[in-house]
Amino acid sequence: MDAKDFRDFGKAAVDFLADYTENIRDRDVLPSVEPGYLSELIPSSAPEKPETWQEVLNDVERVIMPGVTHWNSPQFHAYYPTANSYPGIVGELMTAGIGSIGFSWIASPACTELEVITMNWLGKMMGLPEEFLSSSEGPGGGVIQGSASEATLVGLLAAKERTVRRIKKQNPDMDEGSIKAKLVAYTSDQSNSSVEKAGLLGSMPMRLLPVDKKCSLRGATLLEAMKKDKEAGLIPCYVVATLGTTGTCAFDNLEELGPICNDNNIWLHVDAAYAGAAFICPEYRHLMTGVNYADSFNFNPHKWLLTNFDCSALWVKDSRLLINAFNVDRIYLAHDKQGLVPDYRHWQIPLGRRFRALKLWFVLRLYGVEGLQKHIRHSINLAKHFETHINSDERFEIVTERSMGLVCFRMKGDDKLTRGLLDRLMKRKRIYLIAATFGEKLMIRFVVCSRLCQVDDIDFAWNEIRGQADITSSSTIISHIYLT
Ligand SMILES: *Cc1c(COP(=O)(O)O)cnc(C)c1O
Repeated sequence: MDAKDFRDFGKAAVDFLADYTENIRDRDVLPSVEPGYLSELIPSSAPEKPETWQEVLNDVERVIMPGVTHWNSPQFHAYYPTANSYPGIVGELMTAGIGSIGFSWIASPACTELEVITMNWLGKMMGLPEEFLSSSEGPGGGVIQGSASEATLVGLLAAKERTVRRIKKQNPDMDEGSIKAKLVAYTSDQSNSSVEKAGLLGSMPMRLLPVDKKCSLRGATLLEAMKKDKEAGLIPCYVVATLGTTGTCAFDNLEELGPICNDNNIWLHVDAAYAGAAFICPEYRHLMTGVNYADSFNFNPHKWLLTNFDCSALWVKDSRLLINAFNVDRIYLAHDKQGLVPDYRHWQIPLGRRFRALKLWFVLRLYGVEGLQKHIRHSINLAKHFETHINSDERFEIVTERSMGLVCFRMKGDDKLTRGLLDRLMKRKRIYLIAATFGEKLMIRFVVCSRLCQVDDIDFAWNEIRGQADITSSSTIISHIYLT
């Protein structure tokens, strides 16, 4: 493909995406295909001869779109949002076009330096403590990871290295292997599955601790678990606190957990994957009180901050601890500016890294802090609007208090009603919601996801839910009569 074709193909692709976005409400949010659908639509071998870009682009609509779940549809209310915006998309395009791999400063200076600057911008926007920011004064700083899962694992590995060094200093005779075998980590039983996975990957038992009535992990629970482990000769090493759990968007009590971690040399990692974005609005910052005790803090601009996947922002108070854990020097990676600016390869698991700061920079500049705050507040207002619908209908109940853009609700009575309602909704494919359990009860999570979502879309979802609930309840009554 030459430059002329690239221009035409690129422009046609942008037109396609603009049309897709503008008309996304015309599509069912969920696809209607069966497993294996795609192999019937495309050949089993790659073409021998090159095809035209027009043929390929046409096939996006013909074969790909039927199998797409439209995550950015305003009718998508499952999981948590995945960020998407025009500046974010163009940022991705630019990253692909420039195509540098910024594992060290010299490998592409703009790549590293823009990441340092945008991560400082973002940290300041959220009111993170100064110690997390990059400056000539201290060892703090931010780095973009691919996902919150990676950030949790990076924190765990750095915590392990720090603890091994500390114990080794106190007990020079102990070998590293036996120290590592004694390390334990803690999180709540509400934390994301990726936290448990980090324990598995990092070979550190991850205790899933019980939470209080508000799904929040409390200090006393942590203390008790640590006491037991210490009595068994184990060494507490790592705690992952969640701000905005995946199930119900609950907040762990950092003010209680923080001092316990600090007093016991335990690394405290804060996973604010979804809810962290809201801290750009001053009115939500009280929810991160106690963040000053943390060693690392992470949230996903790729969830609720309009920056396309992948972009997960991780800050650490002492980047030297990451470098200690991950530094493997090779002569071909050395350069004469080493130490003056971060070599981000030491802050992450892979060597190679994409120029992800570019899309973040585009988003921050093209929305401005005000535009992003508006997006967050708009999502929360829409969730409140949905909540009033639920409260207006006595067949329904709110299960856990609305938190951020998430409303957890169910049909009053037996779980069968909620299950039946959700089954119908999924069959109709007009809106996408998922089930979760709270205590013993089944509930439905409704999340305001798409940036395109408006009051009309919330009303559309409510009408769909209300309509299907009518059918659910009447069919239940019929079967009840039939049984008696
Ligand atoms: C979504 C989510 C994650 C996982 O995020 P990835 O970036 O996909 O790894 C982790 N923790 C919480 C609380 C989440 O909501």
